[in-house]
Amino acid sequence: MAKSGSGHVRQLRVHSIFPSFQGEGLYLGAYQLFLRLRGCNLDCRYCDTREARMEMGGFSLVDGSGEVRYGENPLPAERTVDLVLGLWEPCMHSLALTGGEPLLQADSLKTFLSGIKKAGIPVYLETNGTLPGALLGLLDFLDYISMDIKLPSAVGDKNLMPFHLHFLSMVRDKKVFLKMVLEESTPLNEVEEACKRLGMDFPEIPLVLQPASPSKGGKFPSFHHLLSAFRVASRHLRQVLVIPQVHRLMGWR
Ligand code: SF4
Repeated sequence: MAKSGSGHVRQLRVHSIFPSFQGEGLYLGAYQLFLRLRGCNLDCRYCDTREARMEMGGFSLVDGSGEVRYGENPLPAERTVDLVLGLWEPCMHSLALTGGEPLLQADSLKTFLSGIKKAGIPVYLETNGTLPGALLGLLDFLDYISMDIKLPSAVGDKNLMPFHLHFLSMVRDKKVFLKMVLEESTPLNEVEEACKRLGMDFPEIPLVLQPASPSKGGKFPSFHHLLSAFRVASRHLRQVLVIPQVHRLMGWR
């Protein structure tokens, strides 16, 4: 069993492990194994993984045939490696670490990811981009990074841009892209301000504008609003795309 220098067993709080097609962003359609971790340091207005924000609770594991099993948390990091290796298929693109916010469990992830990298599996991190300090010890294990840009109106008027900029300065040599969720109510001046600041240091990093998926009876943001946001973002960044959450449209996990 993996232990830290202090002899403490590294454990993860897992929400679910399952194979699926990537439903968002630049790698849309890539076949991946997802490891969704529990807990988050934010409470975004449009969060669509509320159950994963909760630290308490067990985990589910879905195999390639769709059979579901359940287990209890916490899960030792080395046991998690075994579970992932048992589900891994050579035709998979990468292991997607998602949440919640995976970097909240950075210490245990270090043990877990060293086992994953020994098996030669590429790692794709989905993160809210607000915990650059936690990223430090994990950089060598990460290949792809999907980083959210959180606008103030989505997170109770907090300015998270300094954290985002610090985070991006650390991952320049990775395959990184940005994702910004847009609701009909998202103010265009927030989009402009964020893209202007990003464009000063990182104009080459692709940005995906992601229309918020409708919750119960709601609607997607209008075409007009998306186009306006796209035009504003394109003034500052070289590659801007509008891509909805395909897994929601298709009913995938
Ligand atoms: S960072 Fe992600 S998981 Fe956390 S509250 Fe926001 S949308 Fe939900």
